[in-house]
Amino acid sequence: MSYLHFARTILSSLFKKPATRNYPAVPRKYPEITRGKIVMNIENCIFCGMCMRKCPADAITVTRAQKKWEINPFSCIQCGCCVETCPKKCLSMQQQYTQPAPQKSEEVFYARVPDHPADSRNSKPAGK
Ligand code: SF4
Ligand code: SF4
Repeated sequence: MSYLHFARTILSSLFKKPATRNYPAVPRKYPEITRGKIVMNIENCIFCGMCMRKCPADAITVTRAQKKWEINPFSCIQCGCCVETCPKKCLSMQQQYTQPAPQKSEEVFYARVPDHPADSRNSKPAGK
């Protein structure tokens, strides 16, 4: 490589935009179709277990008796089956991937327990 070619490369690099992104100072913009982390809205869940039965990666466990919904985000393959299946639309996908972690821990959600007897959401009707 001649010195002239070398100098030309240096000069052009000085005035070009950097080829790399200043991450994490500048967060990445994901395209609309990105399938990322599963987000749960437990308020609407009826613990029917349809998401668990459809999941090809066995990433979801629903325990109806305890009103407990859990996911292992490290097993999830972002197929979107659970999101499409849920009859209550409690599942959605965040346009962001699961962050790495030293432990492959599960994320656990419980149905909200009413703070006051008058608040009947997620509780059984009286007398049943
Ligand atoms: S399919 Fe929806 S409503 Fe049924 S258990 Fe899963 S998240 Fe809850
Ligand atoms: S996106 Fe697919 S793999 Fe991930 S939890 Fe839902 S059904 Fe399972």
